[in-house]
Amino acid sequence: MKNEKTLTPKLVKKLWIAFIFLIVLMGASYIFITGYLTLNYNEAITQRINANVAEHVIQEKFQNDAPFLEDGSVNKALFGDLMHDMMAVNRGIEIYLLNNAGDILYSVVLEHNDNEPMKSVSLEPINKYIASKGQEFILGDDPLNPNEQNIFSAAPFSIDGHEGYIYIIVAGKQLALISDNLFGSYFTKLSIGAIFLTMLFSALIGVLSIWFLTKNLRLITQTVRKFQEGDLDIRIENPEESDIEVVALSFNKMADSIVENMEKIKSVDNLRRELIANVSHDLRTPLAVLKGYIETLQIKKDSLTEHQKDEYLQITHANIDKLSDLINQLFEYSKLEAEQVTPIKEPFSITELSHDLIAKFRLLAEQKQLHLELDNPEENYMVYADIGLVERALQNLIENAIKYTEPHGKVTLSLVKMGKQIEINITDTGNGIPINDQPFIFDRYKQVDKTTKKQGLGLGLAIVKKIMDLHDTTIVVLSKPYEGSSFIFKLPAYQLQ
Ligand code: ADP
Repeated sequence: MKNEKTLTPKLVKKLWIAFIFLIVLMGASYIFITGYLTLNYNEAITQRINANVAEHVIQEKFQNDAPFLEDGSVNKALFGDLMHDMMAVNRGIEIYLLNNAGDILYSVVLEHNDNEPMKSVSLEPINKYIASKGQEFILGDDPLNPNEQNIFSAAPFSIDGHEGYIYIIVAGKQLALISDNLFGSYFTKLSIGAIFLTMLFSALIGVLSIWFLTKNLRLITQTVRKFQEGDLDIRIENPEESDIEVVALSFNKMADSIVENMEKIKSVDNLRRELIANVSHDLRTPLAVLKGYIETLQIKKDSLTEHQKDEYLQITHANIDKLSDLINQLFEYSKLEAEQVTPIKEPFSITELSHDLIAKFRLLAEQKQLHLELDNPEENYMVYADIGLVERALQNLIENAIKYTEPHGKVTLSLVKMGKQIEINITDTGNGIPINDQPFIFDRYKQVDKTTKKQGLGLGLAIVKKIMDLHDTTIVVLSKPYEGSSFIFKLPAYQLQ
């Protein structure tokens, strides 16, 4: 629960912040664009409506009354009347008389104005306007508001040697004030409405989008939580279809390998426990024998014959040997398992080593009435391997062969050259190994028949297997119950130069 609270909302919060930012941005852009377009639209319409006001003034008014008096001065009375007439219709109108350089010659509004008006206006927008016959939306200088541009109507005249323009600001100061107020309130209402609607829709879309966007994430979070709580079988379904495919696939893989490793650890742990139990049992037996004989020797030392004493001492000696053998095997195996052993490879004669081992085990074989021999002893084969480790492996295999073969049987060690390798084969005519058990005999502490368990820790073949691994080779077993077994492995042959 805690995880879900801390994981997902962080992302949801971020998404919400992004959405709110987007909504505000959208709202502001909407207001700005709408405002700008509406303003321009209104002005364009007003300009179009008043397009030929200036032309009209020239044609209608200047026919009867000249704009200039005989002395060349401006006919102020005419402009006063004109302004009076015009303002009756449109209070926002301002009429200016310009010469052909754009200088303002006269305007009634200038006489009732406190501001510092412009002395001349730019002719560029005026000429453009005249050229487009009033059809284009063009802003020109506003003489009363030097910093602003305004809509206008303009027309050229040429009367009595005077050339110039009638320049009319269509929406003058007065109109601008009224329209600002009107427009302001209308526009405020429109903006609030627009923002409200935008917010409403955006919030709706936001909730849905966030829900969809975080759907897969929620699913993954839930699965991870369940896994963490102990449901090890849970996996993300159809990870390829997830938006965060990599995460989903990685989680499934990670979960698989965690479960796999847990299984491995469990089985290793079980084996280790089994090993400890068996080791302690195997160590206890010779120890108990030792203790018994030593106690007898101590208690009955005066009543025992020399022969009996000798016999008891021999038995204790044999048990001490057995104990040290077991301990050595354990030590050896744990070193090999901890990968502390690095093979030191060198060329040596496997034939000579085999001769030595046969000689070493001959006595043991004879005691068991077994025939132990080396096949084709004349051939001298050289191999490239760690002589100590190979000797250990062969020793374990020969020991087993002798151990598991009944009297009058036969144990043969044979060496055969096969291409660039020497095949080493230890064959016996013993009990054989049941087919079902064959795959497990190289595992630690596997003894095929626990009831008739012979002396040994079940580590002999596990040690052999580790030695084979260190030589990058494998050992195979061919065995038939009651017929015998063959253990076969290969080592690289060493060519004498
Ligand atoms: P152990 O100490 O019991 O001999 P090993 O690892 O050497 O342990 O052998 C594992 C098991 O494989 C033995 O307990 C035995 O059942 C079986 N085994 C090994 N070698 C032979 C063989 N030559 N003939 C029959 N069974 C064998």
